[in-house]
Amino acid sequence: MLNRSQIKIVLDSLENMFPHADCELEHENPFELLVAVVLSAQCTDALVNKVTKDLFKKYKTPEDYVDVPLEELQQDIRSIGLYRNKSKNIRKLSQMLIDEYDGEVPSSKEELEKLAGVGRKTANVVSAVAFGEPAIAVDTHVERVSKRLGICRWKDSVLEVEKTLMRKIPKEEWSATHHRMIFFGRYHCKAQNPQCEVCPLLELCREGQKRMKKASK
Ligand code: SF4
Repeated sequence: MLNRSQIKIVLDSLENMFPHADCELEHENPFELLVAVVLSAQCTDALVNKVTKDLFKKYKTPEDYVDVPLEELQQDIRSIGLYRNKSKNIRKLSQMLIDEYDGEVPSSKEELEKLAGVGRKTANVVSAVAFGEPAIAVDTHVERVSKRLGICRWKDSVLEVEKTLMRKIPKEEWSATHHRMIFFGRYHCKAQNPQCEVCPLLELCREGQKRMKKASK
């Protein structure tokens, strides 16, 4: 496992590589971000952005989503995986926002997590990106990168990864690190074919060294 000074090296490298890493889901307000993050489960941000380009022109408020028949919303997002469930959740969460929050998106993670279809990861992303709350949302990239680099253990659950990262990374760096880890996992330390041979972290990455050794045989 990496020690504190090695983790500092990781954070500095991520900052050097991706100084402007940010949420890639296009949105203009917290409600659009919430809908986009719900849609993004098991789906690429690029596809979500393609769909929300038109979706957000048609649906601007929670009322707009509950006012149309479910089937119409399903048609509008049908190119996205799990669109049937996602349509139901978006309508349910819209109704909850109308009933309990005057149509506004709450900023606390606890309240966000009570909304239909909103898990811990979604709540973390929305509270961090839309409201500037410190949070580390653990998606597939953050989990993979944390484990490959030895910041967390391979057997750790997603929740354990989140808690370990929160313990080992200064709070003021949580949100920026979360975005940088996503970029690092998406564009460099990819699930298939990570770019170990040109990785600035190879020296302290056991997984990368293992892969390089295997490739040289
Ligand atoms: S050395 Fe390879 S496995 Fe390790 S962080 Fe870099 S790209 Fe990922």
